[in-house]
Amino acid sequence: MDGLTREIFAPLDIICRAGDPGVCAYVIEEGCVEVLRGEGADQRLVAVLTEGAMFGEVALLDRQPRTATIRALVHTKLVRIERDHVEALLLRADPVIQHLLRLLLARFRNPFGAVSAPGQGPAQEAEQVGDAVYGEQQDRDLQASAVRTLSLARDLSHALEADQLELFYQPIIAFSDRSLAGFEALLRWHHPKLGLISPMEFIPLAEKTGLIHRVGQWVLERATSDWLALRGLCPTGGACQMSINLSAPELGGDHIVDAITSRLSSQGIPAHELRVELTETIVIRSIDRVSQALGQLRAAGVGIALDDFGTGYAGLDYLQTLPFSCIKIDKSFVQQINTSERSLHIVKTALELARGLGMTTVAEGIEDQVIADQLEAMGCTYAQGYHFGRPMPKSAVAAWLAHFNSGPRAV
Ligand code: C2E
Ligand code: CA
Ligand code: CA
Repeated sequence: MDGLTREIFAPLDIICRAGDPGVCAYVIEEGCVEVLRGEGADQRLVAVLTEGAMFGEVALLDRQPRTATIRALVHTKLVRIERDHVEALLLRADPVIQHLLRLLLARFRNPFGAVSAPGQGPAQEAEQVGDAVYGEQQDRDLQASAVRTLSLARDLSHALEADQLELFYQPIIAFSDRSLAGFEALLRWHHPKLGLISPMEFIPLAEKTGLIHRVGQWVLERATSDWLALRGLCPTGGACQMSINLSAPELGGDHIVDAITSRLSSQGIPAHELRVELTETIVIRSIDRVSQALGQLRAAGVGIALDDFGTGYAGLDYLQTLPFSCIKIDKSFVQQINTSERSLHIVKTALELARGLGMTTVAEGIEDQVIADQLEAMGCTYAQGYHFGRPMPKSAVAAWLAHFNSGPRAV
């Protein structure tokens, strides 16, 4: 019973108090409880709940404080459902199910108001109206977000055929001579009605609906064909690379290694010119499934970057067992090296680890010269960030490069 525990209460034991933080819901397995509103002399009974009833379920939806005090009336056995557990289950569920559940929870967010008690006074009514207003607003927000998610999930399947996806390319710069060292391909969706949609919003949807395999194949094809033109802009003799992002379900699939290696050979691209990026969270969650695919890609010569370093779980064993060629330090740490000791420590650790393990490093999210200079002094290999270049359409890269090459390259 992961995320579910049993709790037993004696008669008149308080189970939770109004104002307590709501972190779990309860189902009554045996016994009964009373629901009390108000404080001290104003405290009044609003409901008695018996076997099979649920209470505190608002906590499954938000972190608002409890609005009522619940007390056991007899010997009572409860099943406690943790909010974090429900959240984790919801995140894994189909987006349609996720939103239906959220809407249902929102509907029931004022459970005690729905149970009228005898002798209910005007104060109680006012309180209920207040709750209902809050509930309605939240209901509307949830509904709007549910509608958006559902229509995005539906529209995404047409986005590929309708040619609405585009890859933007963000330059990666070598600190050694501040020259272009390659690009990261970043996906964009031009939605016909909603405008530009961030990959942070639609990639998780594509992962959950299974569309990520087709999207990923499209990214691989487009990035490698664009690379045939973009590599010509890189300095001759340099080790330039095109980076693409891979999602967890893509790596779990059987065909990813084949898809990548056959695409590279059909385009005549040497494997070392491609780098795949995987986030630390993917690696940690599915280490067994990804290690074989990564081993095969690395053996073929493809670079492998550990993306968003520092955002995952603290254990670092996987850095020794998986064949990474590069560590990308997450922008949240890079941007805070001067304001947070912890961020500075994480950046230094990443650089030392990479050095010790023979990997290169990319500092992401560099937005100013000061941070660029600091990272260079600390021995970082590559820079990526708005300071050097934003993600841009392929057609804008040549103009960006001309401008970049004409600017000061002060070290
Ligand atoms: P990521 O792989 O960590 O990509 C870096 C993100 O940081 C990009 O956001 C980029 O635009 C942004 N960025 C770069 N430099 C700066 C900077 O100096 N300051 C700030 N504030 N941001 C900067 P973007 O393009 O919105 O992508 C978000 C995420 O979506 C990516 O994070 C990646 O995880 C995912 N993603 C993007 N394209 C793909 C794709 O083709 N496939 C998969 N599976 N995921 C993708
Ligand atoms: Ca990335
Ligand atoms: Ca990243």
